[in-house]
This record gives sequence, C-alpha cells and structure tokens, in this order.
Amino acid sequence: MNNTMTSKKFFNAVLFREIWEAMKVTFRHMFHKPMTFQYPREKRTIPDAHRGALCLLRYDDGKERCVGCDLCEAACPSRCIKVISEEDKSLPLERYASEFFIDITKCVFCGYCVEACPVNALAMTKMYEFSTHDKRTLLFDKDRLYDIGDRHLADAKKYLYAHNLETEGDESRAYRYHFPDSIKTVQSSTE
Ligand code: SF4
Ligand code: SF4
Repeated sequence: MNNTMTSKKFFNAVLFREIWEAMKVTFRHMFHKPMTFQYPREKRTIPDAHRGALCLLRYDDGKERCVGCDLCEAACPSRCIKVISEEDKSLPLERYASEFFIDITKCVFCGYCVEACPVNALAMTKMYEFSTHDKRTLLFDKDRLYDIGDRHLADAKKYLYAHNLETEGDESRAYRYHFPDSIKTVQSSTE
C-alpha cells in the first residue's frame, strides 16, 4: 500500500467520512413522501385489471349468467374449478350450474377461466382480504361466489372492461363478451 492511499484512509477515519456519507442519504430521504402504507389503516388504490378473488355474476334482472358449460373448468391450469350442470326444466335446452366450486388455495390467479367464459359469468374483483385460519373455508361454493359478485359488481365489471379491451358503446355493450380480433379475421376470411 503506497503512502497516498494510507494518508487518504487516515483522513477518512479521522473525519468520519463514511458516517457523513450515510447521514447525507438519511437527510435526503427525510424530505421525501413515504412510500410505505400503514396497512390495514391505509390501503393502496388497486388497478382495475387487478386479479383478486373470483366471483360469479348475474344479469341485471338477477338471473344467473353461468350456463354450466364447463369451459372455465377445462381452461384452468390448476384444476381448481368444479362445475356440475343441470338442464333447466322450465326452459328446454337451457342449462345452469347446479353446483360450482373454486378451490382458492390452488388458484394461481391467471384469469384463464374468465377469458374462457362465453357469457362473462366469471370475473375477478379487487377483493384480497380473505386470509383465514381454516383453509377449508377457501373452497368457494356457488353461493359464496355469487355473494362476492353481488358485493363487488362494480369492480368485476371494471375487470371485464379492462381485459376485454372494450371501449365503444354504452355499459351493456361493454359488459358483453367480444371475441378476439384474430378470431374475427379468421371468420371473415372463410366467409
Ligand atoms: S384464475 Fe386461473 S388458476 Fe384460478 S381458477 Fe381461474 S383458471 Fe384456475
Ligand atoms: S362460469 Fe362461464 S365458462 Fe364456467 S361453466 Fe359457467 S358459463 Fe361456462
């Protein structure tokens, strides 16, 4: 080690240079707005495309949207959806889901089931506070899924708007499933 380096180290030690460098960073951050949130007192603003708890939705007249087609079950990579469907005796050829289960402990919140649903019966919400000591309560049944949908309808609709990329028309048009442009192109080229 040469003399210059030795004297530099000596002066740094005498003047507590490292401490002043660290204090400089501390003082700089004292006047910044804090980035942390005091959860649960303070909550973040959740974006519309957020993938929170899944829910089932109804039409405006209260009728269940789900027709029990099983497409969501087939699309789910985690195999955590189970749909049992039945024919609606009062309406020939119409089916509905008599039972519907989603095991949220296995769900990876990919949103594939929502994309697969042809009638926008499934959506994701901004609800994320469902931690529990008893994981058996995380097997969401049909009643619970419709209950979440009823309570978080506005957020569920925003999720569908955000993911269907619908921009035109009034709310009822925006709330309808639209096939991706690539499928429209294939259809028009075969006509
Ligand atoms: S979000 Fe993904 S993992 Fe969860 S139920 Fe839907 S398809 Fe399955
Ligand atoms: S939620 Fe949609 S995709 Fe799943 S069974 Fe019901 S209608 Fe079919």
